Amino acid sequence: MLCEMPSEEARRKFTDWFKKNYPQEYYFFHKIESNLDKLYSTKHLGLHEGEFAEIAINVQKREGGKYHLAADPFTSIFLGSICKTMMDEFANNIESIASDRVQKEFENRFSIKCLNCKIVNLTHSKYCNMCGSELLSN
Ligand SMILES: [Zn+2]
Repeated sequence: MLCEMPSEEARRKFTDWFKKNYPQEYYFFHKIESNLDKLYSTKHLGLHEGEFAEIAINVQKREGGKYHLAADPFTSIFLGSICKTMMDEFANNIESIASDRVQKEFENRFSIKCLNCKIVNLTHSKYCNMCGSELLSN
């Protein structure tokens, strides 16, 4: 079955809409796409310029009631790459998430910010270590 693929203009319009309305989903789409680019670049798959390859998964019931996931090479690479991209993103972000948390915890519980110079002082300080302003503890 031949299906009409979107024109370059339609694709760009959609991308703008996607980016604007679903920035997080777009971010992941873009990540996955750029990771796939490297994998699909292999000569092994042999897609020519301008050609399309459909991504499709079939489920097959085999003898003995076992189910088999039947996917072509493009789909198999796609599925593997989605999972790897998510794991990479998670691993890359976990460190910054953790350090943000530590920072917030520090600011909330162990410190008091000077309203004048914004420097963080130890809790229970009466005066700012930097500018000498009186600190209002809560
Ligand atoms: Zn101060």
